[in-house]
Amino acid sequence: MTKDWPALVERAERTHRLTEEELASLLAEPATEEAMALAADRVRAAFVGDAVHLRGLIEFSSFCRRNCHYCGLRRENEKAGRYRLTPEEIVALAEKARGYGYHTVVLQSGEDGWFTAERLADVIRAVKRLDVAVTLSVGERPIGDYRAWRDAGADRFLLRIETTDRALYERLHPGMSYDERRRCLRDLKRLGYEVGTGCLVGLPGQTIDSLARDVLFFQAIDADMVGIGPLVPNEDTPLKGAPPGDMGLVRRMVAAIRLLLPEANIPATTAMETLSPGARERILRSGANVVMPNVTEGEARRLYALYPGKACVADTPEECRFCMAARVKALGRFIGADKGFRRRRANPAPPEKTAAGD
Ligand code: SAH
Ligand code: SF4
Repeated sequence: MTKDWPALVERAERTHRLTEEELASLLAEPATEEAMALAADRVRAAFVGDAVHLRGLIEFSSFCRRNCHYCGLRRENEKAGRYRLTPEEIVALAEKARGYGYHTVVLQSGEDGWFTAERLADVIRAVKRLDVAVTLSVGERPIGDYRAWRDAGADRFLLRIETTDRALYERLHPGMSYDERRRCLRDLKRLGYEVGTGCLVGLPGQTIDSLARDVLFFQAIDADMVGIGPLVPNEDTPLKGAPPGDMGLVRRMVAAIRLLLPEANIPATTAMETLSPGARERILRSGANVVMPNVTEGEARRLYALYPGKACVADTPEECRFCMAARVKALGRFIGADKGFRRRRANPAPPEKTAAGD
């Protein structure tokens, strides 16, 4: 641990640059946390302001062809209850989300082949008529599908890299390839989506150095949004025995991401709140500026169980909306009144190419 970490934090706040070694030394040291969070909060205020953007999350299918080791929706989890909303049900939830005042709808699911490019494109076209931004989070697809959805009006896509440690990635994602994941992210960027990515914190075998490389990767690909989550171990998955992700480390990661990607949209995620009640506010004061309240209703809301104990699962979408409004106000911030696209400053400093980048 470098003794001079305050100088590193100060330089990161000023230049938005750190080397892998510098980043790793900050992430490794719990004593840096408050200073990093305060610096990240100042950068957040200067670059993206006091608005907190709310994105209404619709979890529209729990069918998944993948087998990710950490996730309750993995295909080999026979205990997972499977459901699929109809296109009409999805559009009806999007209308409600619009009614709650959300300006973005996030359509998320397992990798469900029932939703062909055309079927999902029809849903996107219908949702776009509501004058909302549409974010997709439906996993890996051929570029043709991504193009069809972009043509139908989709604005953003969330696809976490999960980890930039190739060997760890391939161990935790049987039958998937790190290069294919990268191909998807590249295609999405080329097609003009705002691209969100991110990682899990606390994967067995993950190191601090690899987390530092994750942050540099987000910077190198110029991610528009970066969502990270602590691992929440799921009893019905191969990672059932793993310890949960360290929330202090998660907070240092969020702060580091804000310091290095000052313009990015960064959510305080449900997984954080699940592990540590109150985390949403703490993370919103440590660099984050986005929350994704769940607007899924009824059985589906309970059955979309990536991990157990999901925060707010027993609340109704309407309760969530009032609850979030009060929480944001209590922070002295306000709810964004527009679609909350990434705002670029006049003269953005291009991120340096690194080994992790394109
Ligand atoms: N199928 C799509 C979208 C749904 S999964 C996809 O994989 O991209 C969305 C995110 O949930 C994943 O990116 C993963 O990071 C997160 N996730 C899954 N299981 C989790 C767990 N046990 N703890 C924390 N986050 C988890
Ligand atoms: Fe499927 Fe996504 Fe879960 Fe992997 S993380 S099993 S792709 S829902």
